[in-house]
Amino acid sequence: MVKLNVTISEIIKETSDVKTFRLKFNKGGSMPFLPGQFVMVALEENPKNAKAYSISSSSEDKEFLEITVKIYSNGKFSPLLDKSKVGDILVINGPFGHFNYRKDMGDKIVLIYGGTGIAPFRSIIKTVADNKWDTEITLIGCYKKPEDIIYKEEMSKWKIKNIITITRPETSEEKWNGCTGRINEEMINCNVDKNSVFYLCGPTEMVNGLKEVLDSIGVSKENIKFERWG
Ligand SMILES: Cc1cc2nc3c(=O)[nH]c(=O)nc-3n(C[C@H](O)[C@H](O)[C@H](O)COP(=O)(O)OP(=O)(O)OC[C@H]3O[C@@H](n4cnc5c(N)ncnc54)[C@H](O)[C@@H]3O)c2cc1C
Repeated sequence: MVKLNVTISEIIKETSDVKTFRLKFNKGGSMPFLPGQFVMVALEENPKNAKAYSISSSSEDKEFLEITVKIYSNGKFSPLLDKSKVGDILVINGPFGHFNYRKDMGDKIVLIYGGTGIAPFRSIIKTVADNKWDTEITLIGCYKKPEDIIYKEEMSKWKIKNIITITRPETSEEKWNGCTGRINEEMINCNVDKNSVFYLCGPTEMVNGLKEVLDSIGVSKENIKFERWG
């Protein structure tokens, strides 16, 4: 575990309330990590106000790491990060977490998320691609509206099976012809091999519900890994 000062070198607006921050290591700094792990992030001037963020970049990127953050206007930390600019210094601590992927954990993985829960999965997908591993990946995600989809452009280049379902298409300005409703048993049964290793990431209620679904279709407990974000 290391504590480092990093410099924001790029900020990408993913959606109306989600941003990706590229955090460049200063000279001599590095933080090796397994895809899926997270770091604690704080502003340089207030190191005690720190929050956990999954690393969303590839573990093969050695000069920087990226985090993808949803901004809650009434939050204690994310609005401060939202005001940060390129060139600002952040303090990161880590890496932490047992929610991660290594090649020897399985050749077929299913990554299921809600909203920003996609962040650790982007890291897994990019790390698999950078290493040219032959891991078969199915990504299943859920958003309220098509406008909320994160990494929309880059995901079209990912060599994976990518399923997205939208729960509130009627509230959107964009036309949506894909799946609708919550992630359910049928969606999982039709699209994946039950002997895969399953990773779940998102709000507690969603992760708990999905664990029950996986249990009911006969996925063994040791093949289910999960991260709940409170
Ligand atoms: C291991 C781990 C990894 C995480 N990775 C990420 C990540 O990659 N990207 C990311 O955006 N967040 C991630 N989080 C959540 C993050 O740590 C913060 O909790 C989040 O950014 C809110 O912090 P805040 O101080 O802005 O809001 P807070 O002051 O904590 O909360 C203010 C208000 O925001 C709302 N809120 C906060 N969190 C949630 C939530 N999960 N669901 C619904 N409403 C919520 C509520 O209305 C709450 O009252 C992760 C959490 C954990 C534990």
